[in-house]
Amino acid sequence: MKLTIIGTGYVGLVTGTCFAEVGHHVICVDKDAAKVKLLKAGGMPIYEPGLEELVKKNVRAGRLRFTTSTKDGVEKSDIIFIAVPTPPQDDGSVDLSFIETVAREIAGSMTRYKIIVDKSTVPVKTGDKVAETIKRYCKSKVEFDVVSNPEFLREGFAVGDFIKPDRVVIGMHSKRPEQAMRDVYAPFEAPIICTDINSAELIKHAANSFLALKISYINAVSVICEASGANVIEVANGMGMDARIGRRFLDAGLGFGGSCFPKDLSAFIKISEQLGYEFSLLKEVQKINTGQMERFIKKISDTLWVLKDKKLGVLGLAFKQNTDDVRLSPAIELCQQLQKMGAQLRVHDPRAMEKARPFLPHATFVKDMDAVAEGCDALVVATEWPEFKKLDLERARKGLTHPIMFDGRNLFDPEEMERLGFIYKSIGR
Ligand code: NAD
Repeated sequence: MKLTIIGTGYVGLVTGTCFAEVGHHVICVDKDAAKVKLLKAGGMPIYEPGLEELVKKNVRAGRLRFTTSTKDGVEKSDIIFIAVPTPPQDDGSVDLSFIETVAREIAGSMTRYKIIVDKSTVPVKTGDKVAETIKRYCKSKVEFDVVSNPEFLREGFAVGDFIKPDRVVIGMHSKRPEQAMRDVYAPFEAPIICTDINSAELIKHAANSFLALKISYINAVSVICEASGANVIEVANGMGMDARIGRRFLDAGLGFGGSCFPKDLSAFIKISEQLGYEFSLLKEVQKINTGQMERFIKKISDTLWVLKDKKLGVLGLAFKQNTDDVRLSPAIELCQQLQKMGAQLRVHDPRAMEKARPFLPHATFVKDMDAVAEGCDALVVATEWPEFKKLDLERARKGLTHPIMFDGRNLFDPEEMERLGFIYKSIGR
């Protein structure tokens, strides 16, 4: 099938590449000329495990190409996916201007029936607005259908998630686009749920908010664990073995961040408010998340007392493992707050150092993770990269002026750390 993806970011590039991988002919459009130039030259604008090989393979096979021209993308394909940003505004609501712009651009280039699929995460009822906009700006008055097809991939595991999704959600107001949408996804052999557009849009916000809630729940439990001498990992294991609960998203830590959970949570709270419901449960989820970071910083300052001129080594800058994405990363926020308190930082991340540099202009970026601790008063773990578990702990301990580690991701075993001579402080144990 001929497909166009507008917006070639984390979601758009993965979507386009995976569609090409199963045999569709895909055009990826982006307004960022530098990004398109880089992709055309065989470069990658983001790090995502396994993606680069797939992009190269499908470009070579002639199934995937890149352009800055929305007109080209709309003319050549029957189904147009929208994967542009939907960033938060100051009041928590969603900035839908990227979606509106693309809707107008698509409308201006349509000369025959098209299916326009929204893959960006949007508040309920956005599909109706997109349809209205296209109708208003489409001079040739051709027929079209708007479909909501929210994306559930996780950065760091995006290719695997896209190729083997738990489910595909397709929201439509009419039966007309259903078969084509089923055909697009048929090669993935995944369960497909067809709903109305509003329900599809709500599924995404409700799902992400629930996952954020699960993280805040275990973080709140971690506070009780610390106060009572229990171990949050054992509690999470015991809870997670209950099939009704499940172990995933029960890892206590610095709290959630990234470009999705915080914004989707705020957006869901805001849209609920606009629809007449105060979602106070989700407001509490936000509060617990902020509190988790504050408690961790207090743990550091309670131990080191005055942070001014203290040197801290920080492992991890990405908002989670396996990605170079630092958008709303708790690790970056932690670093910025520690700097505000006067600390000097030596930082390392396996993939995110380049993207983190502009946010931390005064930090020293260290290439070798084993060298981060050198000359520092303490070492801080801020992202759950599995690589950090292989840290040369002996060298780290010797390099530190005081053998103190604050582990915001519970990567190490407290008993083992004590045996190795560390003063080790983690979360909820
Ligand atoms: P991104 O910022 O990585 O990519 C968006 C791309 O759209 C950018 O390259 C930008 O240049 C391009 N763009 C903006 N306006 C354009 C226009 N008018 N024409 C062509 N290109 C345009 O964003 P992302 O992380 O891929 O997120 C996209 C959407 O998907 C958001 O709504 C997000 O909430 C949702 N989402 C993201 C993830 C994730 O893990 N990143 C997962 C599921 C859903």
